[in-house]
Amino acid sequence: MTHTGNYSKQADTSVLLQSARFCTTAATFAQLPSDALPEVAFVGRSNAGKSSAINVLCGQRRLAFASKTPGRTQHINLFDVGLGGVALGRLADLPGYGFAAVPMETKQRWQRFIAQYLTQREQLAGLVLIADSRLGLTELDWTLLGYAAPAARPVHVLLTKADKLTQAQRAASARKVRDALQQRAAALRLLAPVSVQLFSSTQRLGLVEASRTIEEWLLPPAADAPADEA
Ligand code: GDP
Repeated sequence: MTHTGNYSKQADTSVLLQSARFCTTAATFAQLPSDALPEVAFVGRSNAGKSSAINVLCGQRRLAFASKTPGRTQHINLFDVGLGGVALGRLADLPGYGFAAVPMETKQRWQRFIAQYLTQREQLAGLVLIADSRLGLTELDWTLLGYAAPAARPVHVLLTKADKLTQAQRAASARKVRDALQQRAAALRLLAPVSVQLFSSTQRLGLVEASRTIEEWLLPPAADAPADEA
C-alpha cells in the first residue's frame, strides 16, 4: 500500500487504521460483505468533514476520496483494516446526508439505505458521527441517531473543524452537544453509550482519542481469553 500523506506527526496515527485499504463499494444492503468482520461506520452531513476525518485517521490523503467520486456518493464504501496483513475489521463510509441539491427521491433512497444499514447490519460495532463543531448536532443528525438507536451500538461524536473555534468556544460546543444528548437520549431510546470529542483534521486535534475508540470497537478484548493464573 502506498501512503501519500504527511507523516511529520505519524506517532498520533493508529497502526491498525493506517493499514486501511479500499475493500468494496455497496449500492444496496445485499452488496455489503457477508463475512463477520466487525465494522465501524462513519456518518454525517455532507461537508461536515467526514472524508477529511477518515483520511487523517488512516494517515492517507485520498482514502475516502472514493466516496466523493460521481456515482459513488450514494454508496457505502468499505475499507479493510488489519495487522500483519490479516484483515481484522472494516471502516464503512456511509453517504453524507443533507446535501440540498439532491432530488427528493434520491434523498429518500439514501435515507432508506442508511436506515437499513444502521438497523440491520450485524457486523456494526460502533458508529462515528461527524458533526461540524460550529453547528453541533442538527435535526438530520438527530434523525440519524433515531435510526441508530434500536441497534444499540455505541456512538462516538467527532466535533470537527475545532481549529476554527477558540478554546472557550470549543469547550462550549462540546458541552452543548453533551447536554443535548443527555436531554434527548431517553426520547430517542439511545441505550448504548454516546461519547463526544473535539476534532480537527487540519490541526490533527483529537486523533489519538478517536483512533483508540475505533480500535477498541474493532479489537475488543477476547471474551474467551484465559484469565491470569494466580
Ligand atoms: P465531507 O463532505 O463530510 O466528507 O467533508 P470533507 O471532508 O470533504 O470536508 C468539507 C470541507 O471542510 C472541505 O473544504 C475540507 O477541507 C474542510 N474541512 C474538513 N475538516 C476540516 C477541519 O478539521 N478543519 C478545517 N478548517 N476544515 C476542514
